[in-house]
Amino acid sequence: MTAIAKVYVSESMLAALFETCRRRLPYESCGIVLGACSAGAAVAETFVLLRNVSADPLRSFRFDPAEWTEAYGAAQKNQREIVGFFHVHPDADPVLSPLDLQGWDGSGTCWVIGFPAGDPILAVYSQQADGSVRLLPVARRP
Ligand SMILES: [Zn+2]
Repeated sequence: MTAIAKVYVSESMLAALFETCRRRLPYESCGIVLGACSAGAAVAETFVLLRNVSADPLRSFRFDPAEWTEAYGAAQKNQREIVGFFHVHPDADPVLSPLDLQGWDGSGTCWVIGFPAGDPILAVYSQQADGSVRLLPVARRP
């Protein structure tokens, strides 16, 4: 599989994602991004919020297993690809933590939405063939 080198996202999806995450602060939101991948690019179409069942939801996240299973099944049924996983850094920059790297199997893309000073900052990462992790350019479309 080709490593993802670029992400396309619509302004409206991004606004909805940011608002969903902002409303749940100071807790970490998490979920999946659905869309399609081709030729090294991921096109994000929509997202699904999953309940964070971490014991410490202010500082970490864990998908609710039942919601995750359901969302995975629904994506397959609707022939949508899971192109990313997202979570929030409620009061920090969107830099991947060692724990984030541990919890991500490297598939798709890893989206982090940071709120270091109130406004959301998005960073999207992908794992390259050599195992390194790269910050991706995000192209916003109307
Ligand atoms: Zn994180």
